[in-house]
Amino acid sequence: MFIDTHVHLYDKQFDADRDDVIRRAIDAGVTAMIVPGIDVPTSEAAIELSERYDEIYVAVGIHPHESAKLSNGDLDTIERLSHQKKVVAIGEIGLDYHYDFSPVEQQKDIFRRQLAMASRRNLPVIIHNRKAIGDTGEILGEAVNKFPEWRNFPPTPYSHDTAPKGVLHCFDGTLDDAWDMTKMNFNISYPGILTFKNAKQAAEIASRLSIEFFMLETDAPYMAPVPHRGKRNEPAYVRLVAEKLAELQGLSLEDILRSTSYTVYRLFGIGELEPPKIAYQIRDSLYLNITRRCNADCVFCDRKGEAVVKGHNLRIEKEPSVDEIIESIGDPAQYKEVVFCGYGEPTIRLDAVKDVARWIKEKGGKVRLNTDGHGGVINKRNIIPELVGLVDSISISLNSIDPEQYGALMRIDGKRFHQAMIDFAREAKKHIPEVVMTVVDIDDIDVERARRFVEEEVGVGFKRRPYF
Ligand code: SF4
Ligand SMILES: [Zn+2]
Repeated sequence: MFIDTHVHLYDKQFDADRDDVIRRAIDAGVTAMIVPGIDVPTSEAAIELSERYDEIYVAVGIHPHESAKLSNGDLDTIERLSHQKKVVAIGEIGLDYHYDFSPVEQQKDIFRRQLAMASRRNLPVIIHNRKAIGDTGEILGEAVNKFPEWRNFPPTPYSHDTAPKGVLHCFDGTLDDAWDMTKMNFNISYPGILTFKNAKQAAEIASRLSIEFFMLETDAPYMAPVPHRGKRNEPAYVRLVAEKLAELQGLSLEDILRSTSYTVYRLFGIGELEPPKIAYQIRDSLYLNITRRCNADCVFCDRKGEAVVKGHNLRIEKEPSVDEIIESIGDPAQYKEVVFCGYGEPTIRLDAVKDVARWIKEKGGKVRLNTDGHGGVINKRNIIPELVGLVDSISISLNSIDPEQYGALMRIDGKRFHQAMIDFAREAKKHIPEVVMTVVDIDDIDVERARRFVEEEVGVGFKRRPYF
């Protein structure tokens, strides 16, 4: 399930063997390819290809390099083409200040007009930016404010968010720029550049930002990944980009493919949502989705919305019984650990946690509990002694070391629950082999202060987890 979201299949470098290149990609597991035009003829060529191959989809648009060559009526032609069945975006459009092919003011003008077009057509955009992230961000911000209706619909039936607005392909900006883009509901992708040794900034962004914001692309015939660097690129090589992203994210290749495919579904409407799951694998751990109930209501939580994590649909309609949970696990010993988690607070079902954990331990598995640390308040007693021997490891969401911010983030009584959570961690430390506290990586959280507090004052392990 590889999806190459950016491949110039009409390029003349493919003239001699285009069908072989496409066939090789399909044989290598590429299930969809999005071909972005750079002007009218290439947009038309992309549409022709999409009529011949089920796997090919199209974006139509004028590339910044071509802005100077634009003739009267070209933008109207692009808009007319955007009505074709397999056109999924306007692109590639944007700004390029690296090469001096078109005057800046002209680039900006054509970019703005195509964003207006995308909003009229309610289509996402595929953005090219090079040495122009400041102006790109500014113009995107303008468009987002000017066209409040643009992509203002839930991408899936349950989503609380509106649909993503586009992708910055071959992203050329800093980590802070990347965060700014995701806040405006844009995704990010990198072609083979991610595999280059000197692409430090790309590697940093691809390891810090949550996988939920990324898609795969090759930008073929350009940007071939290592070990093909400098040669002609082709869509079958998208696997090399995916493997690098897996390495940077600390995820498995399967996780990358599931997650990026889901992002493609939200953005371009290609593919479908998986059915909900009780047990789901990430890396070599198995997670158990035993409840969607929670005593908190975190501002960043998607429990009542889409509830999709790395492409896994967690939107179970009813809570599974102990037998159903056990059946969904299979052999617990084949995983590094089995984690009570899901979108919800597992200690709300303490008895089910204990029953399933006992069974996992009998079968030789390892058990972790992911919790908000409010189990004591929820169950009106100290529950740690009951978990001894059943749970090997506990992860507690610290969220913030400041009770007031904690309360605001979780929309609960900050003072009361913050103290309860700290007490829970201290108690757990006495009885459970491994205890860690986690914070979400969002920019108004002081991660280093949180680390010191956890390590020095509570005396347990600390982990930062990416926000999405
Ligand atoms: S504690 Fe977890 S499940 Fe509950 S609202 Fe917060 S993020 Fe969502
Ligand atoms: Zn391109």
